Amino acid sequence: MMMMMEEEEQQQQLDSQGGNLKTAENNREVSLYAVQCSKCNKWRLISTLEEYEDIREASLQNPWSCGNKDDKSCEDPSNIDIDSTRIWAMDKPNLPKSPAGFERGMTIRRDCSRLDVYYETSNGKKLRSTTEVQKFLEANPGYKAAGIMISDFSFRAPRVLENTIPEEIVSKKKTKTSSMAVDDYIYDY
Ligand SMILES: [Zn+2]
Repeated sequence: MMMMMEEEEQQQQLDSQGGNLKTAENNREVSLYAVQCSKCNKWRLISTLEEYEDIREASLQNPWSCGNKDDKSCEDPSNIDIDSTRIWAMDKPNLPKSPAGFERGMTIRRDCSRLDVYYETSNGKKLRSTTEVQKFLEANPGYKAAGIMISDFSFRAPRVLENTIPEEIVSKKKTKTSSMAVDDYIYDY
């Protein structure tokens, strides 16, 4: 039932002079979603955020397995490797699905130390904390009338898997005294 999300550098864009890659580091976005089979432990890519949120919302009650995908079984080879070609983050189980009219997104800090969750409203406003959501819901009573509650929002962020952070970023970081093993993340709930 474990899940992962991936951060991938967006395509680096050269400016008109050519060669300016300055922005690349700030432009990481979640681009892939993967779920681990509860039976064979293989990782499978999930094609849409919506499908991923559905699986995550019920991950403790309904552990996901390969058979949940119509065209897959546990015998099929895994279609994704969790390695340092991409930055991966371990998501929390059972997070509420994004309420109608809001899209949950996240950004990764430049040093890859952590992710920050936000909710984007239909008119493009980004809410970055429970307090901001509360204020927004109070200012826009239509959402509450539609049954949307503060408990439909969660700012619990996935944790970046340290062994998938690119070498050049790791070496820029100041020496850290503690280094956690992957298992600490996986069982951290
Ligand atoms: Zn399987």
